[in-house]
Amino acid sequence: SEMTKLALEHEAVNLAQGFPNFDCAEKLKSLLYKATKDHKNQYAPMPGILPLRQAIANKIGKTYNKEINPSTQVCVTAGATQALFTLFTTFVHSGDEVIIFEPAYDSYRPSIELLGGKVVPFVLRPPSFAIDWDAVESLVSSRTKMIVINNPHNPLGVCYTKEDLLRLQALCETYDLICIGDEVYEHLVFDGKTHESILAYDQLAARSVVVYSFGKTFHITGWKMGYCVGAPRLLEEFKKVHQFNVFSVHTPSQYAIAEFLKEEEWRGLSSLFEAKRDLFVENMKQSSLEIIPSAGTYFCLGDYSSVYEGKDTEFARWLTREKGVAVIPISVFVEEEYDYKLCRFCFAKTDALLLEATHKLQGL
Ligand code: PMP
Repeated sequence: SEMTKLALEHEAVNLAQGFPNFDCAEKLKSLLYKATKDHKNQYAPMPGILPLRQAIANKIGKTYNKEINPSTQVCVTAGATQALFTLFTTFVHSGDEVIIFEPAYDSYRPSIELLGGKVVPFVLRPPSFAIDWDAVESLVSSRTKMIVINNPHNPLGVCYTKEDLLRLQALCETYDLICIGDEVYEHLVFDGKTHESILAYDQLAARSVVVYSFGKTFHITGWKMGYCVGAPRLLEEFKKVHQFNVFSVHTPSQYAIAEFLKEEEWRGLSSLFEAKRDLFVENMKQSSLEIIPSAGTYFCLGDYSSVYEGKDTEFARWLTREKGVAVIPISVFVEEEYDYKLCRFCFAKTDALLLEATHKLQGL
C-alpha cells in the first residue's frame, strides 16, 4: 500500500503490487453478466455451488491426476486470504506453534498471532533460498500444530521440488502436523517444469488443506474468489468456521467461473507469463540492477547491490522517486532483520508497461 501510494505521488510505473494491469477474458465478463440476468443473485450454498465444486474437482483430476470428492473436499472461499484466515481460525489455538517460511505472504503471521498462535519462522536465504529440512525439523516442538508452505513462492519466485515435498510429507507424518499449502501460483511455473502440488502426495494430502485463487488464475484479483481443497476430516472442521465467517461466497461469480473453467484457459498461463518474464529479464540486461529470473509466480527478484548502498526499504523509495519505478523491498516479508539487497518486481503487466519500466531503469 505504501509503495503504491508513493508510485501514484511520483507518477511512477508500478511494478510493486501483485496483480495484472490487463483485463480478464471477455467471455468471463459475459458469463458474470449472464449469471446475474439468469437470476443467480441470492445466497449460494455454504461450501459453494455444486457445479463449481465439480468443475474444481475435475480440474484437479486433469492437472494432478487425483480424484477429489466435490462434496467433502472442496470449499469455495472469498479468495485465498479468507481461506487462510479461516484455516488458521479453525486449527490454531492459543499457544499453538506454526512453522512458516519467511519471506512469507504477509497475511500468515498477523493472522496466526491474532489467534494467539506462535509463529516459528524458517528464514529462506539467498542465493538459493533452499529449505534445510533438518533445520526445519529442529524447529518442531510439542506445541507445533501446523506448517505452512507457499509453492511457487511469493516473493522469491522459487519452486520447491519433489524432494522438498517428500521431506515435508515425512516431517508432517512423523510429528502429526497439519499442513497448509498456498498454491495460488500453481499455473505459473516456467521453463518446461511442472508444479509439485501437495495434492499429488497422498499421505501429505491426507493431512493438508491447500488454498487456491481464481484471482491469480483468471486475472480477476478484484473478484476475491478462491477455494480450498483438502482432507475431508479437515474440511469438515473448516466449514464449521466458514459458516459463521462469510457463510457463502458471491453467487454470480461462482456460476460464471464454473462455466468458464470449461475453457481450460489456465493451460496457457505459464507461457503467457514466461514470455513476460523473459521480456523483462532481457530488457533489464542493460541495467546494472541484476534480475534473478524466477522459476514461477509473476514476480522476479532484483539484486541492487551494485547500484545502491542502503537498505531495501530506502532503495524502494529512492527508485520510485528518482527513477520512476515502484518495487517492493523484500525485508517487509520477514519479521527479523533481513539485510539483503533485494527487491521484488511484478511482471504481470502489459508488455508496453514492462518496456516503459525497463527503459527507465536502463541507465542504472
Ligand atoms: N497467497 C499468496 C502467496 C499470494 O501472493 C496472494 C496474493 N498476493 C494470496 C495468497 C491471496 O490471494 P487472494 O487474492 O485470492 O486472497
